[in-house]
Amino acid sequence: ATPGERGAPLVDSLEGRVAGRLIRPGDAGYDEARAVWNGLVDRYPAAIVRCTGTADVVACVDVAREHGAPISVRGGGHNVAGTAVCDDGIVVDCSELRGVWIDPDARRVRVQAGATLADVDRETQLFGLAVPLGVVSDTGVAGLTLGGGFGHLSRSYGLSCDALRSADVVTADGDVLTASAEEHPDLFWALRGGGGNFGVVTSFEFEAYPVGPEVMACFVVHPAENAPELFRKYRAFCADAPDEVGLLAFTMWVPDDEAFPEDARGKPGVGFLGSSIGPTDEGAEAFEPVRAFDTPLVDFSGVMPFTELQQMLDEDYPDGRRYYWKSLYLSGLTDEAIETIVAAAETAPSKLSTVDVWQLGGAISRVDDDATAIGWRDVPHMLGIEANWDDPADDEANVEWARTLWAEMQPYSPGGLYINFPGFGEEGDDLVRAAYGDNYERLADVKARYDPENLFRSNQNVEPST
Ligand code: FAD
Repeated sequence: ATPGERGAPLVDSLEGRVAGRLIRPGDAGYDEARAVWNGLVDRYPAAIVRCTGTADVVACVDVAREHGAPISVRGGGHNVAGTAVCDDGIVVDCSELRGVWIDPDARRVRVQAGATLADVDRETQLFGLAVPLGVVSDTGVAGLTLGGGFGHLSRSYGLSCDALRSADVVTADGDVLTASAEEHPDLFWALRGGGGNFGVVTSFEFEAYPVGPEVMACFVVHPAENAPELFRKYRAFCADAPDEVGLLAFTMWVPDDEAFPEDARGKPGVGFLGSSIGPTDEGAEAFEPVRAFDTPLVDFSGVMPFTELQQMLDEDYPDGRRYYWKSLYLSGLTDEAIETIVAAAETAPSKLSTVDVWQLGGAISRVDDDATAIGWRDVPHMLGIEANWDDPADDEANVEWARTLWAEMQPYSPGGLYINFPGFGEEGDDLVRAAYGDNYERLADVKARYDPENLFRSNQNVEPST
């Protein structure tokens, strides 16, 4: 049977119960609607519902439960594992729910489930505010926040999930709840890092912080010849940096693109991207040593609008390219770890790929490990391995490269990893347990309370405890 035939009973049940557009196999726009950011993902849902509000979400959850059918939830569609879409089931597509409302006096921001980071930055900056989110602006707020959320503001104000004050949730029973420190605190704890396991969040309430309108951004690429030395300098810089400064280091090849200086194009380098949200002159001073680590191939550093900083990497991650990303927390950036990273970068099968070292600490580490579902609060760095490529013939080589480096780096990790860079989640339960460490059992208990049948399993799945 085709996906259309298999899904017919589901579609019959949804018809008349949802107000939003129902997109079925064979409908115009079906292939666009089932596509996600990662071009490797190719799933055939029975129905995609462009929800117009919470009532549509409830209807989708009820129908999936009644039929015992798969269900997945789409926020920004940017999870590398493509869990926003499922085969033969219902996609709760939140992409048209992009409202953002601000209470500037209370510094509270209400964000609907399909908003992107750009949507939030644009509205909050009207009031000189920002919510700590990620570093690529077309990522979805929903998946990012539910998994944790690391970005330029993390060292000052914590993770996205730390800024969450409440969430409206449709549970597996179709109940509509508000989770906060006061109401359903167990659910609120789990939503802060536990991913899409506990229900469909229809809106998020965040605390916002004064940021911008201008910030000092550092974006410099030094030649790769002295890569180990550059990473050692980066390690020393991070050890001394104040909280308002954050810096990401990554191996790369300068893109063959007219945005970059002609004589730098195609050359291997080590890039440093960061920002300071303090006074811009202090920020400029803070980044001077980084810009002088070597003679730069490229230096785009300068004072710029916060929204521009947030969009600096957007063009590097187009929709539909092939991606395989993994992560690992690092106990430290030892010389051996640096050698391993540099050697892997030199042998990457694709010149679009990067190996990223994130600077953590600051406000991230002032939250207790068990205060939110995402733990591992005191690690100084996170490793991100990004295999990015275009040709389907290169799939195996690129995935293999990323997986090999991930294995080689395990000795430098306390064992934890960030669930939002999960590869394809092929390690299953082992991956999820590693991500949550000591918080895993408590998450499984909350899962058993709110989703005992594991309806929400198109995600990095936490199985309900028995
Ligand atoms: P989707 O693919 O739409 O959703 C992913 C999963 O989240 C779903 O399967 C579901 O389980 C859950 N989910 C989504 N919406 C809801 C909802 N409304 N209710 C319940 N569950 C839901 N992460 C960082 O921390 N910092 C970064 O700077 C960063 N940069 C990134 C840049 C790019 C280009 C990409 C692709 C990813 C980046 N990430 C970053 C990782 C990102 O946090 C995850 O990919 C995240 O899953 C994206 O969320 P989404 O809503 O776009 O994803």
